[in-house]
Amino acid sequence: MGYVNFSIACNRFSVRKMPQFSKYQVIEKIAECDLISSFVLAPTDGLEVPSFVAGQHLTVRIPEGLSRSYTISSSPSDRSKYRLTIKHEKGRDAEMPAGKVSTFMHDRVSVGSVLDIAGPYGAFHLDPTSDRPVVLLSGGVGITPMISMLHVLADTTRQVSFVHACDNGTLHAFHDEVGRLATTRPGISCYFIYRNPTAADLEDQRHHSSGLVTANQLRAFSAQDSDFYLCGPSGFMQMVHDGLTDAGVSHDRIRYESFGPATVLSPRSQAVQSKVTEALVVFEGSGLEVEWDDFSGSLLDFAEMNGVYAESACRSGSCNTCECSLLEGQVDYLIEPAAPLPAGRCLPCVAKPASVKVRLDI
Ligand SMILES: Cc1cc2nc3c(=O)[nH]c(=O)nc-3n(C[C@H](O)[C@H](O)[C@H](O)COP(=O)(O)OP(=O)(O)OC[C@H]3O[C@@H](n4cnc5c(N)ncnc54)[C@H](O)[C@@H]3O)c2cc1C
Repeated sequence: MGYVNFSIACNRFSVRKMPQFSKYQVIEKIAECDLISSFVLAPTDGLEVPSFVAGQHLTVRIPEGLSRSYTISSSPSDRSKYRLTIKHEKGRDAEMPAGKVSTFMHDRVSVGSVLDIAGPYGAFHLDPTSDRPVVLLSGGVGITPMISMLHVLADTTRQVSFVHACDNGTLHAFHDEVGRLATTRPGISCYFIYRNPTAADLEDQRHHSSGLVTANQLRAFSAQDSDFYLCGPSGFMQMVHDGLTDAGVSHDRIRYESFGPATVLSPRSQAVQSKVTEALVVFEGSGLEVEWDDFSGSLLDFAEMNGVYAESACRSGSCNTCECSLLEGQVDYLIEPAAPLPAGRCLPCVAKPASVKVRLDI
């Protein structure tokens, strides 16, 4: 997968061991649209923020000890602050309760709050060696890496198409910021697709088309020899990925980031096959032995499914929060870890067993 090779080339941005948290103060909280707010963070020591490349994320740890990853939505050229943009996962009912960290951020964090932050991390960012046209395709809150990338691209001469899909104007973050950046120079176009536009959206012409992203639209964006960046809900990403490859785009021209559990997009969703389809997994620290099979997902998903708790954040092999000892056996990676791991260590969030017995120290 092109994305994996690319991440190896960019390891200098993410080589590290365990997360080192620093204190940041919230200096601004901005409601971007319904459910989505930005939090502007400045280091409490008054120094510059560590440098990052557009597309990378931070780990936020809340006082309860829970950590989650959030992509930096600001421009890397502003070293005075980071902006994180977070969707409130409100939940539906007892079966699907509200998300813990996003609820904390929306309900309990305000200007003046101090947060524990680690990072930046991640290998999802613009290929610095390419001068091809770029198509940035996002769905919902997946717009966060794309807006940061757009800030960078606005200062280049590359041709840029910014394509964003969301439900309607009430859930559309950065509508005006994207519009403003698109007018900074010729060669940047934006295209907004609303699934269920409101009467106000139709009247104000806030979007370019209604309904879902179509094969025809993807064919139009694929017409040139472009680099594609995708981020959004898993269904959106798989549909867009399949549409692009059907239109003749090579799989290794498509780079993507998932905000959910580690998934690998490949033509027609053929996920990476492990060498073994069944294995005995021993969670040594919890004194539990359980049978894993190919439907059990990553070792982190499998641990959680069996009531074994392991601290985690990015769930995509880039922050190392879940790093543990591989005491016995071998693993394959669904997504190659952003930084190489020492012998005997493992990232369960992106690992599957590759031997019939695997023993971890969690
Ligand atoms: C690299 C990366 C970058 C990211 N960047 C962003 C970003 O820029 N902006 C952003 O908003 N998010 C981003 N995310 C997602 C973010 O990290 C969190 O996953 C998200 O905010 C949800 O966390 P939570 O603690 O609120 O929800 P959790 O408590 O983890 O719950 C997750 C979801 O599961 C549901 N749920 C909870 N418990 C149950 C249950 N028992 N049964 C069924 N469903 C349940 C909740 O309703 C919620 O929708 C990113 C993720 C990654 C991996």
